[in-house]
Amino acid sequence: MQFTSASPYDGTVTGQYIGHSADEVARRIQATQSTFGYWKQTDLGTRAILMRKAATELISNKKKYSESITMEMGKVIRESVAEIEKCARVCEYYADNAARFLADEQLPVHQGTAWLKYQPLGVVLAVMPWNFPFWQVFRFAAPALMAGNTCLLKHASNVPRCALYIAEVFRNAGFPEYAFTTLLIGSDEVAGVIADARVAAVTLTGSEPAGSNIASIAGKYIKKSVLELGGSDPFIVLADADITTTAAVAVKARMLNCGQSCIAAKRFIIQKPVAKEFTELFTAGLQNLKHGDPMLADSDYSTLARRDLAEEVFQQVKKSVDLGARVLYGELLEKISGSSFPPMILTDLKPGMPAHDEEVFGPVACFYFVENVEEAIAVANDSRYGLGASVWTNNHEKAILISNALECGAVYVNQMMFSDPAVPFGGIKKSGFGRELSAVGIHEFTNQKTVWVK
Ligand code: NAP
Repeated sequence: MQFTSASPYDGTVTGQYIGHSADEVARRIQATQSTFGYWKQTDLGTRAILMRKAATELISNKKKYSESITMEMGKVIRESVAEIEKCARVCEYYADNAARFLADEQLPVHQGTAWLKYQPLGVVLAVMPWNFPFWQVFRFAAPALMAGNTCLLKHASNVPRCALYIAEVFRNAGFPEYAFTTLLIGSDEVAGVIADARVAAVTLTGSEPAGSNIASIAGKYIKKSVLELGGSDPFIVLADADITTTAAVAVKARMLNCGQSCIAAKRFIIQKPVAKEFTELFTAGLQNLKHGDPMLADSDYSTLARRDLAEEVFQQVKKSVDLGARVLYGELLEKISGSSFPPMILTDLKPGMPAHDEEVFGPVACFYFVENVEEAIAVANDSRYGLGASVWTNNHEKAILISNALECGAVYVNQMMFSDPAVPFGGIKKSGFGRELSAVGIHEFTNQKTVWVK
């Protein structure tokens, strides 16, 4: 199998990589397992020193790594730079906090003494997506390595150079060889790696079909799995919100990464008294964004990451409009050319329409207009997904009531949803299970062992 680095913006091919043979995959798994035997014995102080060096490596090579992101998956360069800086922050966060998170915890037992220990599981396989090709990997790898695990990475096929560069970061930071190992393999080879007795656990960030496949294989071999899947996050706007600020943030929340974020606001649920004002401001916000070459500093958005992804968004919009959805803003294309897709607003969405039922991974905002808080909650929860949500209101009691009623992993009030190393991240329903980041994230790939001494 061959992996190609190609810009989705202009098709420039900047690298071709031969995939690993079955023998090479087996050798790498063995080497990663052998390194685990050594790495799990290292003390947390040593691990923290190396993790801080990884942060330094990222910052020192920010230009090279951010350009690699933009060249392979097409996000605008300033977002790629921010992604590398955030990776450095997560390394520093776990370097600073892992010892505290992994310390033994006393248990209040009725006799003797008991405590909980956190010990590493072993080799953890990460199957990762292209949309934040550095961040998704670092938010898994920093806690997993700090906990004493070793890591295998199967990255998305369109970001092979990012995958190799991530391994370079850990190597240059001084981590032992094969503490972090990249496998250049296709998705059809993932099952064999999960089945391998030397692999202890698997984490996937990706789509629902990939999640279903990986969880079923992990289940068959009785291995721990974490799934970070898609989302169709609601962005609820109540009539008492500051509409100017809300609309400005709403545009950002939908258009970040050209709409290709699991926690992008995708369904805008707006109380009717402010529907007109919000729609006008949102539309003006979209019109002000500059489309262009992702390598240019003043581009706000560029193409989607692949032509097939643009085609998928096109089909979702087309089928929804054929079924009665209305275009509030944007051009209803006849067909797709290249990887571009223009920003759009759809409304009059109903069950049975792809834009209502599915995750739309591109710059399409779905607008729903509601009478009251109860209807807003009902529309928000009418989704197969449950990742994040954003609620906008000046009424604290209403914000709390809505936050408690929403079926999702996180609710952000008067701010857009975003991830932060200190805050747990993950979903329910078809958005997956398990959590990343914070203390909760580092505990996912540990054996939480009880010791009770009489
Ligand atoms: P994807 O097609 O599921 O791919 C993700 C990874 O899974 C890639 O490495 C892919 O390999 C592999 N893969 C695909 N199908 C597989 C299968 N049947 N069995 C085993 N592995 C498989 O997803 P994507 O298009 O790259 O990413 C977009 C999706 O990720 C969206 O749904 C988005 O919401 C979700 N996402 C979720 C989060 C979160 O934290 N919840 C964060 C970011 C993205 P190949 O590239 O070789 O196919």
